[in-house]
Amino acid sequence: MMNDKMTTVALQAYDRRHHLQPFTDYRQLHAKGARIITRAEGVYLWDSNGTRILDGMAGLWCVNVGYGRQELADVARRQMLDLPYYNSFFQTSHPPAIELSRLLAEVTPAGLNHVFYTNSGSEANDTVVRMVRRYWDLQDKPTKKIIISREHGYHGSTVAGASLCGMPHIHKQGDLPIPNIVHIEAPYWYFSGADLSPAEFGIKVAKALEIKINELGVDRVAAFIAEPIQGAGGVIIPPDTYWPEIQRICKQYDILLVVDEVICGFGRTGKWFGSDYFGLKPDLMPIAKGLSSGYVPIGGVMVGDRVADALIDKGGEFQHGFTYSGHPTACAVAAANIKILRDEKIVENVERETGPYLRKRWSELADHPLVGEARSAGFLGALELVKNKENKQTFQPEGKTGVLCREFCFDNGLVMRAVRDAMIVSPPLIITKSQIDELISIARKCLDMTAAQLGVA
Ligand SMILES: *Cc1c(COP(=O)(O)O)cnc(C)c1O
Repeated sequence: MMNDKMTTVALQAYDRRHHLQPFTDYRQLHAKGARIITRAEGVYLWDSNGTRILDGMAGLWCVNVGYGRQELADVARRQMLDLPYYNSFFQTSHPPAIELSRLLAEVTPAGLNHVFYTNSGSEANDTVVRMVRRYWDLQDKPTKKIIISREHGYHGSTVAGASLCGMPHIHKQGDLPIPNIVHIEAPYWYFSGADLSPAEFGIKVAKALEIKINELGVDRVAAFIAEPIQGAGGVIIPPDTYWPEIQRICKQYDILLVVDEVICGFGRTGKWFGSDYFGLKPDLMPIAKGLSSGYVPIGGVMVGDRVADALIDKGGEFQHGFTYSGHPTACAVAAANIKILRDEKIVENVERETGPYLRKRWSELADHPLVGEARSAGFLGALELVKNKENKQTFQPEGKTGVLCREFCFDNGLVMRAVRDAMIVSPPLIITKSQIDELISIARKCLDMTAAQLGVA
């Protein structure tokens, strides 16, 4: 193996010379060299210097069953030998795609009985854009084109996915968004709630959807897309009043509800899906990440009966798909991953045992002088780092404090992500209570180090 023989310094040099990482400031990275991750087991990573790191982010919100599951490797090997690849374009199918589709219909909310496969969450959202517009064409309502999304939403990095994102810094590169995608306010009570209670604020921001539909004209609006809990936007957890009102509006105006479950799906909230957590009935549901626990790339769109029936009964050929849609090896691994989650009752354990425990330990961090709010739901958590807890004054420039804290965490054996100046966790679902204690104690130590560096008492 190349990396057994090469020193870290040599690996970093080749990395610098030939590799362009995603969402990376190259000059900044090259100044210090990449941290080379070589191995992982359970909730821990090891880097090329042999340092052990607790992965509080489950990779990128995806390694739900944890690292090192032998069964998933065995299934991949067996499938590669039986049928490593075949497409499903020519009126064909194969057992792994069929089995995974059946399992998905079983574990996803009622009314979602079909799946269209992709290789990622971004491709799933590109598929959503095409499917939504195709659906309204088939209803003889071709003017319904606009998809309403939200500020701070994350829906991927392809042209359509990035357009759906509610992040101006992403839109600035590449002339985005594409036409017919508009954004409304997010349910970000901590910074936007002002003097409203969370319940009042939830209703107010939900009504922004109704206002936007009326402003655009309902005959032009096709769908609303949202994550149940906004992940990459900073683990923004909506007030309880928000989703019921959104659902009422979608129903009243007859627009499709697209619930992006790429992060919330497969147990992250302690329910199988964020839709179960909030009682949602999506028309379309993009999935990826936890679908395979990240062991192989695979995503998809769960398609509700109303849209599936239209495509099947009167759609003719759907002019969309990927070479690797329903890839046999990926499907086989995803099916085995879902069986692990189901048979080992991992989701139930998050709901009943470890989720409440993380919530309790996480909320204790709110007493830290830097922490303005410590919020969590299931295995998603955020700490808002602020300069002044009374008036929520933030540090300037935005983002610097978060990165400072993230680097202290990495150096002390913990991965937490920084979004603006919020510190984020999303650990593997198999993390134990004592490992949660370890996570909290490193987090507190690194908050102290961050405070000391900033000269905060
Ligand atoms: C990560 C993510 C995506 C994009 O998925 P990729 O596999 O990175 O393309 C889409 N939606 C949400 C909510 C995500 O978190």
